[in-house]
Amino acid sequence: MQENHYDVIIIGSGPAGYTAAIYNGRANLKTLVLEGIERGGQLMITNEVENYPGFPDGIMGPQMMDQFRSQAEKFGAKLVSQLAEKVELSEKPFKVSTDDETYTSDAIIISTGATARFMGIPSETAFKGKGVSACATCDGFFFKDKVVAVVGGGDSAMEEASFLTKFASKVIILHRREEFRASKIMVDRVKNNPKIEIRTFRVIEEFYGDENTGTVAGVKLKNTQDDSIEDLPLGGVFIAIGHSPNTKLFEGQLDLDEAKYIVTQSGKTATKIPGVFAAGDVQDPYYRQAITAAGSGCMAAIEAERYLESLE
Ligand code: NAP
Repeated sequence: MQENHYDVIIIGSGPAGYTAAIYNGRANLKTLVLEGIERGGQLMITNEVENYPGFPDGIMGPQMMDQFRSQAEKFGAKLVSQLAEKVELSEKPFKVSTDDETYTSDAIIISTGATARFMGIPSETAFKGKGVSACATCDGFFFKDKVVAVVGGGDSAMEEASFLTKFASKVIILHRREEFRASKIMVDRVKNNPKIEIRTFRVIEEFYGDENTGTVAGVKLKNTQDDSIEDLPLGGVFIAIGHSPNTKLFEGQLDLDEAKYIVTQSGKTATKIPGVFAAGDVQDPYYRQAITAAGSGCMAAIEAERYLESLE
């Protein structure tokens, strides 16, 4: 029991989790990071990060996460590639169970991040991994010389579309309204790319496949201005419509907002349970940047440290 008891357990291994681990490790707290099965969070499926201060020439997302991880290890945090399956926050010490072990701790930092969303159409689900993807960086290579579509009007959609022009013969952005949520610089980049076409007021009604290959062959596309339906042959479709926070484990234990993000105290990472903190995208529907996630991971670590001091 004692061996599996920690001052702080950090659940999640993106920029928020690793930053919290660097701070708590460096403060000499016995710190465990449950990294999950696929460590590193969303930056592992990101291409180049151009806007993280300190990297004027940019850095690849996975490389950046490797560096965060090494720094956390250097300061003594124990990192395990296990997924938290159950969390019990009603009694102290807190309990976190994985398939293999049960750990206890005096403080918990939740940094489980967010996951890419899909539209939820049955035919979309049927073609996942067969031409429908939510990650251009992971799958773009497979769409060499094909015409592909990207769904969405945010920065992710613009970024994915630009990236896909390295492989695809043509990229069509399908957005459901006229205005873009994406920043002007990203939209301009897309507009200036001759391989990208933008179609607004468009929603996908259905995906259809090629009978021989079983992969996506196109979509039935609805024009929301006149309700007309058009057939659009495509070799692949990338869904870039945002993310949902990974908070299922905490339902009924912590306050979640209507979009299921963990509610924290204003300007802090403290949740309604003393000793439980939330950092990064799991509590941030607004900024969702690596730098803000890292910043809130630091805040959570400092708050956890002060909380632990107050117990002594
Ligand atoms: P987002 O900003 O929330 O944009 C999601 C887009 O998908 C919106 O245009 C939305 O349309 C559309 N959408 C949502 N549900 C849909 C549905 N069911 N069917 C069709 N379209 C749907 O998400 P994001 O682009 O992933 O960006 C998230 C955050 O990460 C943002 O803060 C962004 O700035 C940041 N980010 C930054 C960079 C960068 O700077 N390099 C790159 C990627 C992401 P509506 O506009 O109509 O709601």
